[in-house]
Amino acid sequence: MMINAEIVAVGTELLLGQIANTNAQWISQQLAARGISVYHHQVVGDNEGRMSDVFKHALRRSQLIFITGGLGPTDDDISREVVAKLVDQHLIEDEQILAGITAYFARTNRQMSENNYKQAKIIKGAEVIPNSIGTAPGMIVPYQEARFILLPGVPSEMKQMMIETVLPYLEEIYALQDVIVSKMLRCVGIGESQLEMQLKELIAEQTNPTIAPLASDGEVALRLTAMADSTEKAKHLIEQKEQEIKTIAGKYIYGSDDQTLNEVVVQLLKESGQSISSAESLTGGRFADSLVSISGASHVFQGSIVSYTSDAKENVLGIEHSIIEQHGMVSEQTAYQMAKLTKEKFNTTYGISFTGVAGPAILENKAVGTVYICLYRSAQDYQIEVFDFPKNRELIRNRSVKKGLELVYNKLK
Ligand code: ATP
Ligand code: MG
Repeated sequence: MMINAEIVAVGTELLLGQIANTNAQWISQQLAARGISVYHHQVVGDNEGRMSDVFKHALRRSQLIFITGGLGPTDDDISREVVAKLVDQHLIEDEQILAGITAYFARTNRQMSENNYKQAKIIKGAEVIPNSIGTAPGMIVPYQEARFILLPGVPSEMKQMMIETVLPYLEEIYALQDVIVSKMLRCVGIGESQLEMQLKELIAEQTNPTIAPLASDGEVALRLTAMADSTEKAKHLIEQKEQEIKTIAGKYIYGSDDQTLNEVVVQLLKESGQSISSAESLTGGRFADSLVSISGASHVFQGSIVSYTSDAKENVLGIEHSIIEQHGMVSEQTAYQMAKLTKEKFNTTYGISFTGVAGPAILENKAVGTVYICLYRSAQDYQIEVFDFPKNRELIRNRSVKKGLELVYNKLK
């Protein structure tokens, strides 16, 4: 059976961009995991006419209409009133709910206001969704072929009510069996379009699991999603596809799901008993931060010298004045010296350096976005890369760190 769901988030603050619609994200994840297709997300302000239009529209195409927000006690919380009007039912005060709300206020030592009585009203014919941590209960309102599911906007309350009542209810009425399992394969050293080209055939013939390349933050990931009647079977389908992908693009895959490149780098250094230190100019310590954010980094990371100015590069790191004078701060030679000197000072296996032009102005006639990274182990074993990143200061600094991690990863893997 195909069940179509959609999610309507109510709240002007969502439209103003003051908060993000994380409720829709979370509900979607829960429904996807149970094989319920979510085809639409909508956001509407606290306005009767527009809310009513949106709900009517949803009725024409969805069997499950989740509404979050607008169940509070204040005058602009009108979700239950709008739905009641739409389904043409009265609001009736529910004694049990009123008792619950009164008890809640007594328990939390707060004064109950006239407005709170509003929250004890339910739409005639609706099933109540108890709210064990707040005041406003939710409702499941059957109407024609569809059901409205009204939930509060507060994420912790909404989630609790979904888990305790709504999801078990859906599992029961739809006898849900299919599960959806997803796995992310995280890649490095390859662009999204390149990866897509390499996997062209697999992507073209994808059915179950589906394969979706995603790019963000200087990294590419593949999301595999499988549907089956048990978690085990879905996982098995994913495993098979993962093997096929690995035979083609395995060398770019550094991890899966929540793993991060810095975490994997720390792990690889640990496993091989090696260590690293950094000398950072434009990254200003961000490379160090990316390693230190991983617990246990002290076993493999000694420290970083943030040498931003040419004085710092000479006086703190000890680069010869003539090298900077002759080649410039943003140069292969300076990057080499920075990496070598930091390795020696910290007595680590590797030294890595970052020097470049973060902008907005050009420096030493080098374009904004030019970055040199050197990974140094010995005079015979080092590597210097030059990059030309897009001209945005934050992006240049972040990409530099990512590329630095990538160099270390490729060296160690
Ligand atoms: P309340 O009883 O708090 O008034 P409510 O059901 O009326 O609850 P809203 O007033 O719409 O809900 O939202 C309460 C709070 O919940 C908001 O301030 C916001 O922080 C959060 N919230 C509301 N909607 C969402 C959403 N779609 N995604 C994430 N957070 C949300
Ligand atoms: Mg409210």
